[in-house]
Amino acid sequence: MNIGFIGLGNMGGPMAHNLIEAGHQLTVFDLSEAAVSGLVEAGASAAPGIAALAQSNVELIITMLPAAQHVKAVYLGEDGLLAHVAPTVRLIDSSTIDPMSAREVAAAAAENGNRMIDAPVSGGTVGAAAGTLTFMVGGEQSDFDAALPILQNMGKNIVHCGPAGNGQVAKVANNMLLAISMIGTAEAMNLGVSLGMNPKVLAGIINTSSGRCWSSDTYNPYPGVIDSAPASRAYSGGFGTDLMLKDLGLATEAARQVRQPVLLGGLAQQLYQTFSSQGNGGLDFSAIIKLFSGDTHE
Ligand code: NAD
Repeated sequence: MNIGFIGLGNMGGPMAHNLIEAGHQLTVFDLSEAAVSGLVEAGASAAPGIAALAQSNVELIITMLPAAQHVKAVYLGEDGLLAHVAPTVRLIDSSTIDPMSAREVAAAAAENGNRMIDAPVSGGTVGAAAGTLTFMVGGEQSDFDAALPILQNMGKNIVHCGPAGNGQVAKVANNMLLAISMIGTAEAMNLGVSLGMNPKVLAGIINTSSGRCWSSDTYNPYPGVIDSAPASRAYSGGFGTDLMLKDLGLATEAARQVRQPVLLGGLAQQLYQTFSSQGNGGLDFSAIIKLFSGDTHE
């Protein structure tokens, strides 16, 4: 299939590579020339801009952009996608943005005659490179069905979550819970160790008891408990604190719009904001344990 891809960063780059590997013809655009040249080397054609990409012979356009402001600019801008794209071209936005913005862009696409789904992902850069992402999809069933074979070239677990925007709803709800469970795990691990427990023994108890969760058994924030976790390599790689802070901002803003209290989500946001303000925005989000332990876990 002829596919347009806009946003070739840490996630979009490897996702686009996987589409080429699966045999698709890609036309790509990114503000970063370095990002574009990596894909051109792999066989993609470079479009000089968004309008040119929209007017090329693509049947589907996928976007993977940083935040809602970029998504709105790329789709709704004066010289954006919707101003130039034919109504037959299908659209997929995989950026993580708030559900209301996703619904606004989907409604504008529908008005333009374009079929569109929101399909944010989890699985991080490792999942993007390995083609094992989870896609949470919002949109009509028939559009989900049409997109499925393409999404399967980039991911493993692909779930239809309901109408437009619901992919983003699933994403923000999951990540809010992840932030809360990581902070809880960090607090409990640090309490146990401070009271004299060996961290591996404590994690073993938690992971066979009712406190078990992904943050404890797969991504434990205490150094040395899980060799493959960022905690065991000075919190490098993984899912950055500032990306988690962004997702918590989306969750609390979406909650405000529907007047839904998110007490622990709000607290988690403030704790991550505090941690980021101390210069830790680039560390993996499990480094939040440093708030409880001081800076002793290098
Ligand atoms: P990134 O900053 O690495 O990449 C974004 C790319 O978009 C950049 O190359 C940038 O140049 C490009 N871009 C920005 N504005 C543009 C425009 N107007 N036109 C063309 N290109 C433009 O970000 P990322 O880590 O790839 O994340 C992308 C999205 O995926 C974000 O919404 C993020 O929240 C989400 N996400 C990231 C991860 C992760 O681990 N990095 C995991 C899950 C979801």
